Amino acid sequence: MCQEHKTIGNPSHFEGTEQEKTTAHAVDGTFAQYTQGMKFFDPHVHMTSRTTDDYQALADAGVVALIEPAFWLGQPRTGLASFKDYFASLVGWERFRSSQFGIKHYCTIGLNSREANHEALAEQVMEILPLFLQKEGVVGVGEIGFDDQTAAEEKYYRAQLELAKEMNLPVQVHTPHRDKKKGTERSMAIAIEHGIAPNMVIIDHNNEETVKSVLDQGFYAAFTIYPFTKMGNERMVEIVKHYGPERIMVNSAADWGISDPLAIPKTAALLKIEEVQAEHIRLLTYQNALDAFAQSGQIQETDFINGLEIDQTQKFNGNTILRGGQAPRINKDSLIIR
Ligand SMILES: [Zn+2]
Repeated sequence: MCQEHKTIGNPSHFEGTEQEKTTAHAVDGTFAQYTQGMKFFDPHVHMTSRTTDDYQALADAGVVALIEPAFWLGQPRTGLASFKDYFASLVGWERFRSSQFGIKHYCTIGLNSREANHEALAEQVMEILPLFLQKEGVVGVGEIGFDDQTAAEEKYYRAQLELAKEMNLPVQVHTPHRDKKKGTERSMAIAIEHGIAPNMVIIDHNNEETVKSVLDQGFYAAFTIYPFTKMGNERMVEIVKHYGPERIMVNSAADWGISDPLAIPKTAALLKIEEVQAEHIRLLTYQNALDAFAQSGQIQETDFINGLEIDQTQKFNGNTILRGGQAPRINKDSLIIR
């Protein structure tokens, strides 16, 4: 099975197991009738890879804030400048783009596990990480951890845990698909070895196999609802029914592969249909992520709870999301008439 996965070229957000591929299902397009008035926080979504239509759909579905973890681009970077520009875009242009749809954008910064294997470049990236980790709106070190579980991945995972400790930032841990259980246990054991409090660590991409140990050891357990790989949201409902909402959060991890940025509202709808109580849905799809990453000291709920002021006539370094002749979408309640 593992060999089979290795032959798949260029997987998207990291490929899933055969079982996961066959058990994932999508919720149909009527989710919004169940989620009226709900607000959502997506703690893992790669908006750089998404369109303005996605931003609009997220805003319409009630997503008020999100976190964009630094990851790989689908192909290896060839130099430090690519990392620099990418990190700068996460705290710059992408944040601006998000604001134009009324969504508060945060990010985590880190050296992803795949590119930790390019050691010469990894060394250079480690040098620029402290600079970016200090930027406003950077709410953690992430996404870091294991992919193939190599020695180089472990080396840079440990080095970045030390950075997180020094800077008192939460850690967003990517767990591998191959040997997930082993990789997850190893990620947690190393974090503890480095003296990081489990409540400062968000273990991501959990499944039925890993969740109990993650919660028992006091870590946050994030679940990626991702079509065909990772978790389907029907499975998520079962996990919630079994474990309750404490320290569990869901995310979309939407990226440049086939993925669904509306995974959180759709899961909330399914939880509601399955009669999970409203307060538990709120914890799973909003509050727990907020609590976990607010430990960075970089999140003020008052910044987004009532929505951001949208003014699409604004510019970022002279650039706008509008194209020639387009009319801006301005908050209807805005006092200004143009
Ligand atoms: Zn990711």
